[in-house]
Amino acid sequence: MRIGAHVDPAEPLAEAAARGADLVQFFLTDPQGWADPKDRPDAEALIASDVDVYIHAPYRINVASSNNRIRIPSRKLLFRHASGAAKVGAKGLIVHGGHVESADGLEAGFDNWRKTFKFAADEGGFATPVLIENTAGGDNACARRFDALARLWDAVGEYEVGFCLDTCHAHAGGEDLLDIVERVKAITGRIDLIHANNSRDGFDSGRDRHDNLTAGEIDPELIVAVIRAAGAPALVETPGGADGQTADITYLRERLA
Ligand SMILES: [Zn+2]
Repeated sequence: MRIGAHVDPAEPLAEAAARGADLVQFFLTDPQGWADPKDRPDAEALIASDVDVYIHAPYRINVASSNNRIRIPSRKLLFRHASGAAKVGAKGLIVHGGHVESADGLEAGFDNWRKTFKFAADEGGFATPVLIENTAGGDNACARRFDALARLWDAVGEYEVGFCLDTCHAHAGGEDLLDIVERVKAITGRIDLIHANNSRDGFDSGRDRHDNLTAGEIDPELIVAVIRAAGAPALVETPGGADGQTADITYLRERLA
């Protein structure tokens, strides 16, 4: 079972070594901005490394939006980040499911997701597999509650779309972790990556605050069980820098052994 962490983008391989991580995730640009990724000097080292690389897309991306001035740049930025991710040999580009402005806009939001994959397909396809991640908050989210996730997958299922399951987001988003792998797979048919995080907030709180695995509101054994059931690589997006994340990775390795 391959286990890793979300790390600072300056020196991801050094960060991986500091944590004994099998995989790393990082941002190619400021996650709060709209910048296109630049070529990285460590691209060849990242490709050659035994450490698997995942890239997280900027948070601003919301391809579901009914607002043209958000949706169109979001679609382009996702495409460019997929190209940037390919240049470092990434196995996946993780993007949040996004949201729409009102409940009656959800159907259009799902269709906007479909158009995003169609747009990419018309351009030769995303250069890196795109993994849609479930999110914790909002009433009009495309991938918070699984009734919405099922409708999203009805829209995008004809394309090769991956799924990233975040345990903090599921718990805070109001989806029970107990049988979650079965329920996700019934919808998406796959789980490509687990974001193994505890939550500082309660079930269905709608808040997105990650915690270390043995802290937080979720029974950590439940997080272990999710990883085991999914049989997918997992990475922690937890606080405490290298020390905090190393403890979380060690915890998972011991329980999953
Ligand atoms: Zn996550």
